[in-house]
Amino acid sequence: MKVLVINAGSSSLKYQLIETESEKVLAKGLCERIGLEGSKLTHSPEGKEKYVEEKPMPTHKTAVQMVLDALVDEEHGVIADINDISAVGHRVLHGGQYYSDSVVVNDDVKKVIKDCFPLGPLHNPANLIGIEACEDAMAGTPQVAVFDTAFGQSMEPKAYMYAIPYKYYEKYSIRKYGFHGTSHKFVSGRAIKFGELDNSNCKVIVCHLGNGASISASVGGKCVDTSMGLTPLEGLIMGTRSGDIDPAVVQYIANNENLSVDEVLNILNKESGVLGISGVSSDFRDLSAAAQEGNKRAQIALDAFIYRVAKYVGSYVAAMNGVDAIAFTGGIGENDCDTRYKICQYLGYLGIKIDEEKNKERGKEIYISTPDSNVKVMVIPTNEELAIARETLDLVK
Ligand code: ADP
Repeated sequence: MKVLVINAGSSSLKYQLIETESEKVLAKGLCERIGLEGSKLTHSPEGKEKYVEEKPMPTHKTAVQMVLDALVDEEHGVIADINDISAVGHRVLHGGQYYSDSVVVNDDVKKVIKDCFPLGPLHNPANLIGIEACEDAMAGTPQVAVFDTAFGQSMEPKAYMYAIPYKYYEKYSIRKYGFHGTSHKFVSGRAIKFGELDNSNCKVIVCHLGNGASISASVGGKCVDTSMGLTPLEGLIMGTRSGDIDPAVVQYIANNENLSVDEVLNILNKESGVLGISGVSSDFRDLSAAAQEGNKRAQIALDAFIYRVAKYVGSYVAAMNGVDAIAFTGGIGENDCDTRYKICQYLGYLGIKIDEEKNKERGKEIYISTPDSNVKVMVIPTNEELAIARETLDLVK
């Protein structure tokens, strides 16, 4: 079976066509600058030359059509007919409290995605447009919504409630949801298999450290806590997001700089994090290089990032009364050995011992702890597209 995975953003659309038996990627690509000047499709078919097409893409509908045309093209295509695609799996940011699992799209599902626009104002509208564009172009092909918030739905009220007047939860569903759920579910699942852990009781912490970063705690594969909140702004220090701060900071900046709450939130989302502290970059490779050259703010940014991750791990160990395995994933978690090592140095009290040689490995499934470490520490590369393809297959086969 061939499943098309779509991740539609406000002006972009990423895709992968996956053969589900072999789990091979037949083609992948990206539509950029949808609705803007200079839009472009970059299509990478397996075993063939990369194909780039610069053509106006006024809407996501045009983008989807260009993707489908590229997939069946005689030269750079990988399938003979659009009907060879058995189903489409869509990454959808926010499913609110409605969905704790992936679901085949129908009118009710589309209504929920729409009802969640206020909770995911940048992504949910684009996700819905992506779904509707595929429905138009591929009538009769099942569309599946895979929610980034689904994994977090197993949290108990003590973990997801904010200590604010209850009426705001009742009126506006304000609570912690958590994001990166597809990745946390995939990686914790792999950690259980790779680590040969007890399926029903194992305590796993996943550190998804990329430009966006979050941590989850799960027991027996079910999420009990996670660091992102109502929006992806809460939790860890990220590339450009502040993560946890005293909410009074918003008022203080707004009053002193004569900015609106929306403007301050924009600063907290896009100009903060390690970029904000360092003034250098949101990219960890740039930060490490700058720190090595003696840039103090870059060093503080790196130290603060690592410290925050270690604090979260510690709090989740307390929340679960123990931990069996810790898995690192995401661009930083999979590749940045130094950051991994420094996080683990905070965790010696758990009896964690890191094998420095093994920790030099990047981007593959591996233990980085020693055999006598009290907790299994591993690197598990995430693969959100494959996870979406698997969820889609499960629902339509
Ligand atoms: P996104 O949240 O955008 O998916 P990624 O998971 O791709 O982000 O992670 C991007 C981050 O990973 C960047 O900060 C980048 O510097 C870091 N990264 C990628 N490769 C390496 C590497 N070899 N060494 C250190 N950091 C890396």
